[in-house]
Amino acid sequence: MTLAFIGIGANMGDTRQALKDAIVCLAQQVGITVAARSSFYRTAPVDATGNDYCNAVVKVETTFTAAQLLRICHHIEDQFGRERPFHNAPRTLDLDLLLFGDVSIDTETLTVPHPRITERAFVLVPLLELDAALEIPGRGRAADFVANVSNQRIEKLSSCKCTRLQEGGTAS
Ligand code: ADP
Ligand code: MG
Repeated sequence: MTLAFIGIGANMGDTRQALKDAIVCLAQQVGITVAARSSFYRTAPVDATGNDYCNAVVKVETTFTAAQLLRICHHIEDQFGRERPFHNAPRTLDLDLLLFGDVSIDTETLTVPHPRITERAFVLVPLLELDAALEIPGRGRAADFVANVSNQRIEKLSSCKCTRLQEGGTAS
């Protein structure tokens, strides 16, 4: 069993719903247990134009290899209608494998830790929410990189305020 972190992002359509649905999809896989999820964040696009993003990070336990986990992520992206018309194009869903245990991988199709993990507030902030003492293999403490991304706009979204309807239709 390996502890892994997956970054989730979307900036097309109902982005919050896409994140929630993507987490359900991950949790439904036989070899994946979602152990924790960060808050949802509204973030400015980095190196891209388009709408703001909704981002989050989930911590999962998995029996899959890193390559298998990435394939599952791509399959879920496809189910959400992900298209790649150009580099950094707006997206209905992006699932990035951020960390896979303490493993470092560098192949043509998979780099772990994710190569831009220390450069993006939308990854670092939710990661640190899940584990403030997180170590990035080969790089050091995740917290040490936050100052470098302080110019990137990121705002924590309030958690879902579901109105409970009581008998008789009055809201509480
Ligand atoms: P972005 O880099 O903007 O997330 P894509 O989601 O289209 O763009 O991913 C581009 C490619 O990055 C994928 O084809 C995938 O094979 C490769 N890749 C390499 N390492 C990773 C990783 N750790 N997580 C996700 N994709 C990765
Ligand atoms: Mg991606």
